[in-house]
Amino acid sequence: MAAMKKTIIRSGLETLYFSGAYQMLRPFVAGVGAILTLHHVRPPRPELFQPNRLLEVTPEFLDKVLIDLRRSELDLVSLDEMHRRLVEGDFQRRFVCITIDDGYRDTLQWAYPILRRHQAPFTVYIPTSFPDRLGELWWLVLEAVVARNEAVHVALDGRDETLRCGSVAEKRDVFDRLYVWLRSLASEAELRRVVHALAVQHQVDVAAFCDELCMSWDELTALAADPRVTIGAHTVNHVMLAKVSEEQARTEMDMSRTVIESTLGVRPAHLSYPVGDKTSAAAREFRIANDLGFKTAVTTRPGVLFGSHRDCLMALPRISLNGEHQQLRYVRVLLSGAATAMWNGFRRVDAA
Ligand SMILES: [Zn+2]
Repeated sequence: MAAMKKTIIRSGLETLYFSGAYQMLRPFVAGVGAILTLHHVRPPRPELFQPNRLLEVTPEFLDKVLIDLRRSELDLVSLDEMHRRLVEGDFQRRFVCITIDDGYRDTLQWAYPILRRHQAPFTVYIPTSFPDRLGELWWLVLEAVVARNEAVHVALDGRDETLRCGSVAEKRDVFDRLYVWLRSLASEAELRRVVHALAVQHQVDVAAFCDELCMSWDELTALAADPRVTIGAHTVNHVMLAKVSEEQARTEMDMSRTVIESTLGVRPAHLSYPVGDKTSAAAREFRIANDLGFKTAVTTRPGVLFGSHRDCLMALPRISLNGEHQQLRYVRVLLSGAATAMWNGFRRVDAA
């Protein structure tokens, strides 16, 4: 399933590129700018089983993208500048914002030196439980459970099951099945309960991922000292906000901003909804973010920005630099707006 989706996306991007269709479509679909999403930036790893690989690109690829952007007509701007241009309708030049979610240590180690060399402003969205060392990176716990075992024991919808995962192919299948099922659960609490049970049963240390992979407050302080760096909020516990109560969603958004302000001395004006698809952030979350006074909030709904996004600053789309598709030509097609226009049925704004 995941493999098929990958192939469909790739062939769509290839077709748009090699047919030249993306250049013909560009005047109609390119909009005024775009926000790029990154997660991990680090050297490639040899493991065959890497189900979360779509969330990481190599330093070489990021460097190539930046060289290409710097040669283009696009301005690289901060989120504050993007906000100004949208609100004032200043669209003389197209722009790109770079955003990095979650605050992994590789942001500091690998992404930052490249971004600094290209003098590129960028934003890092921090879930405060990660530097507080209380975060649960459940998608990595799931990966570890499947990677380290020949079989996974899990209560699937109340039925005890043993899923064999000795081979790489089986591991991919079992991960996909469990991931899709976990994401389909109605509440975040239920998801966390299942992942906790898996971790205990298969002796995976949940806390270890934060320690090993995420920046500490000291590291974040060093990063935040660069005037080109914007620190954004990404909730406290990295929860899918649509899957918690309204009160909890509000607290998650508001509290993360307060914690960042008290530790780094800057109050985040920009928010990224964790996971960020339609099942994680929708009308209720957009309203709360607006009530809380954020200047902008980003989703992971795919798309470029149009002038009309000034009316829905709490539901901005982004373009992910996907680790499965690390080709410059795909980035060009994505920034042209052609691919996302087709995925979105040529609808420009989707803020429902
Ligand atoms: Zn995130």
